[in-house]
Amino acid sequence: MNASFLQTPIEYLKGVGPNRADLLRKEAGIFTYQDLLHFFPNRYIDRTRYYKINELQQNNAEMQIIGKITHIKTVEQNKRKRLVATFTDETGTMELVWFRGLKWIKESLKINVPYVIFGKVNWFNGSFSMPHPEMELMEEHEQSLRSAMQPVYPSTEKLSNSGITNRVINKLMQQLFLDSKNKFSETLSKNILDELKLLPKNESLFNVHFPKSQVLLSKAQYRLKFEEFFYIQLQLIRKNLIHKSKIKGYRFEKVGPLFNAFYKDHLPFDLTGAQKRVIKEIRNDLGSNAQMNRLLQGDVGSGKTIVALMSMIIALDNGFQACLMAPTEILSVQHYNSLVDMCNKLKISISLLTGSTKTSERKIIHENLENGTLDILIGTHALIENKVKFKNLGLAIIDEQHRFGVEQRAKLWHKNEFPPHILVMTATPIPRTLAMSVYGDLDISVIDELPPGRKQIKTVHRYDSNRLKVFKFIRDEIAKGRQIYIVYPLIQESEKMDYKDLMDGYESIEREFPKPTYQVSIVHGQMKAADKDYEMQRFVKGETQIMVATTVIEVGVNVPNASVMIIESAERFGLSQLHQLRGRVGRGADQSYCILMTSFKLSNDAKTRLETMVRTNDGFEISEVDLKLRGPGDMMGTQQSGVLQLKIADLLKDGDILKIARSYAWQLLKQDPSLTNPENIAVKNTYAQLTRYKNIWNYIS
Ligand code: ADP
Ligand code: MG
Repeated sequence: MNASFLQTPIEYLKGVGPNRADLLRKEAGIFTYQDLLHFFPNRYIDRTRYYKINELQQNNAEMQIIGKITHIKTVEQNKRKRLVATFTDETGTMELVWFRGLKWIKESLKINVPYVIFGKVNWFNGSFSMPHPEMELMEEHEQSLRSAMQPVYPSTEKLSNSGITNRVINKLMQQLFLDSKNKFSETLSKNILDELKLLPKNESLFNVHFPKSQVLLSKAQYRLKFEEFFYIQLQLIRKNLIHKSKIKGYRFEKVGPLFNAFYKDHLPFDLTGAQKRVIKEIRNDLGSNAQMNRLLQGDVGSGKTIVALMSMIIALDNGFQACLMAPTEILSVQHYNSLVDMCNKLKISISLLTGSTKTSERKIIHENLENGTLDILIGTHALIENKVKFKNLGLAIIDEQHRFGVEQRAKLWHKNEFPPHILVMTATPIPRTLAMSVYGDLDISVIDELPPGRKQIKTVHRYDSNRLKVFKFIRDEIAKGRQIYIVYPLIQESEKMDYKDLMDGYESIEREFPKPTYQVSIVHGQMKAADKDYEMQRFVKGETQIMVATTVIEVGVNVPNASVMIIESAERFGLSQLHQLRGRVGRGADQSYCILMTSFKLSNDAKTRLETMVRTNDGFEISEVDLKLRGPGDMMGTQQSGVLQLKIADLLKDGDILKIARSYAWQLLKQDPSLTNPENIAVKNTYAQLTRYKNIWNYIS
């Protein structure tokens, strides 16, 4: 079909006036013929069967029946009028009932003419009735292009109130297919169509709007879902490949003396299989000519820090500097301490740079960075301030952050010939299908194995009314020498109230656990960084046994002796947050516990979240549940909504199709990177179109 036809503004379609066009644009995003063509039904009603009245069951099901109206009457009851029609076929009689629009309906109904009616069947006062049936004269029904499997299009209140009902959309769709003569060009290559036995484009579009049968509908949906995923993946993978071919990186060929010394003599533990695999993936990237752009996913406690360190050591061995950036001061300090610890027998110079680094120290750091005597710089966002200039930064690692912006990346780059290699580490597992969509242009490594001997954290759900028992449990654990976290929610909308809750909680904990037997720390967002740090350090050193906190401790702190995590108002936390918080315990050798405290009133979603936490410790499993509860858009935030706004495919249900589509896209780009093979002409054209428009269905069919 030629381009101009499908780009025709929707008001040119017969049956669409200026008013309807306006509504379609505003309410359904339908601007052109093309948009209408790709306005897909979200469900179908099976109208492949016609029922006889004597077959009806008392199950409230939607049924389709052929018969005639023999009689119409208006009934008044409690001042409310209704219209009742007697409807019969050769097997029996039932009633059709209307409560609204009586006059208009009464005038339009025909007596003793065959109708096909459709709707929910009620059992009422000893007989079957159907309120507000969809009706069509048998004669029209037979001629209509509408098929047995009836599409139900997404609607809004405005659309249906303004008379753009499902039936109207259906009619418009018929008009569009009539006008276009169903000549839509193929958009996939013959190879792919043959190998996957996909339905041709024409037939797919037709059957998704006017399914001839269940089987054809499924095939049509499969093909269109595949296509939608395929072109998104093609775009993402192409971006990745172009990045690799265009953006050269430093080549770290050597695995040199530092790495070898560390590996042989200073490794604090045996690496897990997953850690080894990931280090190998990173080494491959660093040894290639391209700039690394890798995302490392690993659950809390999976051991990402050592992977970061060993990657940085590779950079040092090749004569480069490295940096590690963390989101908070506390975390930077922690990273700094553990890296200094692990490297203390090696000749590596490491510094820490945060917002609270003294000016005098800062000056020295700046100097040493520029003259190259400083090997590794660890810190917060202070790292990417303009004054900070590396002599030769080869690798930048960003911890616990979703994505590193282009601008920030450029800041790390300035003086150098090439940009540094980038490794982004995240402890928030996201489902594979989501990772493929949102991070499809990055290379992804996953640590999917915890270090050996880790005990499962025992997780329970307790109601506030059981608080005394929980206090007793805390006392017992402290008596064994353990430390306890008690975490309160802090969300922005009600910051004041949350702050009060936290303070009330703190006071009651202090009453319950009095000095001098017990020492309680508190850390929250409104404290000065230095005070926070002081309290945090007291807890780290074991001077306090209880840490009352808001979610500032969410990310990364490591206190192996803390073995109990109590989360107050746990129903207010999201799953991934709960999981992150729980990950603060279970870092030492002892059995650890997580207690989720809630009130009695819980929403269904909150119940599911709590049950999931109690059932499993596996971050990836938890992220799958989270995806089901929140949907991809909410889970990833609106930033990524582009690749998540799918027209026909569903990330939750169609993960398998996504995987196939991604692998086909990879294969194709490997064999024919610039799509010059004549076999791939359809793909090439489609791809060219889609890069010109915003969304993937806005190309020429
Ligand atoms: P995260 O992935 O959350 O950053 P860390 O790197 O902080 O995890 O590691 C969590 C804990 O597990 C640390 O105390 C670390 O020393 C330990 N650890 C990491 N890898 C291993 C391993 N292979 N064997 C034993 N302990 C390990
Ligand atoms: Mg970490």
